[in-house]
Amino acid sequence: MSGWTCSYQLGEQCTLLKKPCDPGDKGCVLYGKALFSNPNSPSNEALKRREALERARKERGYE
Ligand code: SF4
Repeated sequence: MSGWTCSYQLGEQCTLLKKPCDPGDKGCVLYGKALFSNPNSPSNEALKRREALERARKERGYE
């Protein structure tokens, strides 16, 4: 079995944010890049905003 592991995670701690690991939280490498099953994850709204921006850029011919 393989899976993604975060290079910042050391045990239960995030060495980037200096607090317990909370994937998708603001400042996390996954913030705005993944949709989480927890509807309260701040990453979900950030992902929607990023996708809307990308759609708008494509519609304007920037990509
Ligand atoms: S909070 Fe995010 S950046 Fe920090 S260890 Fe967890 S997955 Fe990695």
